[in-house]
Amino acid sequence: MVNRSARLAALCVAAILAVAAPAPPAAAQSPDTALVNGKIIALDDRATAAEALAVRDGKIVAIGRSADIRNLAGPATRVVDLGGRAVIPGLIDSHMHAIRAALFYATEVNWIGARSIPEAMGRITAAARAARPGQWIIVAGGWTEQQFAEKRRPNTAELLAAAPEHPVYIQLFYAAAMLSPAGFKALNIAGDADVPPRGKIERDAGGNPTGWINGDNPTITALFDRLPLPTFEDSVAGTRQFFRELNRLGLTGVSDPGGFNLTAASYLPLFRVWQDRALTVRVVFSLFSQRPGKELEDYQNLTQMLPMGFGDDMLRFNGVGENVTWGMYNNDNPTDAQKQQYYEVARWAASRGMTLTQHWSNDASVHHLLDVFERVNRDHPIAGLRWSIAHLNDGSAANLQRMKALGVGWLMQDAMYFGGDALIRTRGAETARRTPPIKTALNIGTRIGGGTDAHRVMSYNPFVSLQWMIDGRTVAGTPTRDADERPGREEALRLYTQGSAWFTHDDGRRGALTAGRLADLAVLTKDFTGVPTDEIGGIESLLTMVGGRIVYAAGPFEALEEKPGR
Ligand SMILES: [Zn+2]
Repeated sequence: MVNRSARLAALCVAAILAVAAPAPPAAAQSPDTALVNGKIIALDDRATAAEALAVRDGKIVAIGRSADIRNLAGPATRVVDLGGRAVIPGLIDSHMHAIRAALFYATEVNWIGARSIPEAMGRITAAARAARPGQWIIVAGGWTEQQFAEKRRPNTAELLAAAPEHPVYIQLFYAAAMLSPAGFKALNIAGDADVPPRGKIERDAGGNPTGWINGDNPTITALFDRLPLPTFEDSVAGTRQFFRELNRLGLTGVSDPGGFNLTAASYLPLFRVWQDRALTVRVVFSLFSQRPGKELEDYQNLTQMLPMGFGDDMLRFNGVGENVTWGMYNNDNPTDAQKQQYYEVARWAASRGMTLTQHWSNDASVHHLLDVFERVNRDHPIAGLRWSIAHLNDGSAANLQRMKALGVGWLMQDAMYFGGDALIRTRGAETARRTPPIKTALNIGTRIGGGTDAHRVMSYNPFVSLQWMIDGRTVAGTPTRDADERPGREEALRLYTQGSAWFTHDDGRRGALTAGRLADLAVLTKDFTGVPTDEIGGIESLLTMVGGRIVYAAGPFEALEEKPGR
């Protein structure tokens, strides 16, 4: 008894000491950075509008009025006057092929935002001037003829005028690619047989090649793989440059669903940048199966050293997808054997507590996938695993309801920003009015992540995607989606922050500006909540912070940018 009482007494003394312990010196407790005199869109539960926030050790420690936050500052605190500018939580693209885009960024030309063929060709000319003789000039997608005033694809004469000497490759989605004459020569392409599996050299009325090769996803993927790969150093540089480019647009996180022909070695430049502590975007990635028939074997092998959740706040592994098995990828009529194979892989993933994301295009066939998910769910509940279906632009209320019941979320992108005009032609204005059904899904309560699917099929610009979510207009300005499927500004912004964070199990740590969360934010060129809708797509960041570090700064804040790396 004595011993026990003594121990209790000692515990009480310890507790009192803990409470009464003198506070550390004020400097140790003062924030590293205080952002004051801003308009902070916190996106917390109460939609608090604050003026200022304080950051310490990578996290937000206080948010409120400027005077109160200024009072927290110590002698070492960096105080930044935002001049009344809007601040949002860092944007998170929940489905971007960012790792692949980064590998090629230093050696590719992009046509994002080019409004005419001469403007696009100007970028080719500039790249050709900077390139070595014989070096490839590559535009790997991310554009549509709808964005050009001319509303057509460029032709060979224009390409030759822009870059007469260099081999040039220009990809249009996964449907077509144009080569310059030097490009055809370099790849030894003389006829259709030289562009397997289904490539067709386009010819004009007179039978002359136009410079374009039409095909499908396998054709274009195979063609692209014949281009020279960037060196490791080019890819490391490209990764740093690409992520800074994303920071310029207010992005602080991406969820990456892999891609065809991304081998384990493709991840090495990313890992190098991470090891150098130079990542400026939080990357969460999943494994995209590379070998038909070997999916489960490959996952089991690779995940021995890459368990679910492995990594840190900057780089983390998040399960399998978006190609979980080859038999169920872009297949509207899977056989029983293909569904059984998928079930075995998905069941294995669920039994390991893994997140899974699956590419699926059409609502009419998604029941095949949902049937398998429901079957897995009977053996291993998946509700806590944050599984998702990507794309599904024509999702019906019934299937969104089935997803909600399973705890399966929806990764939604702005494919219709480029594709809406074609959708009206192929499936009619009635379908386009509810594509994608953003408000229907919100009302049902299906989890939604915002994003783009960049960079081959879409621009990575999140503000373009946000504007499109809000106004439903295509790149050509065509109104498509009805008002009752258009979210409000704050709703849209929530999908691109907390909405996306849910899919990577980060909704409690990112996506809102509240005390205790990671200090990921962007100070904007224009007020997202107040600017005319058609100016939202032109918003950029003037200061982007990731984990308290200013990874991008421009204009009045330019001097504040911290160079990445040790
Ligand atoms: Zn996909």
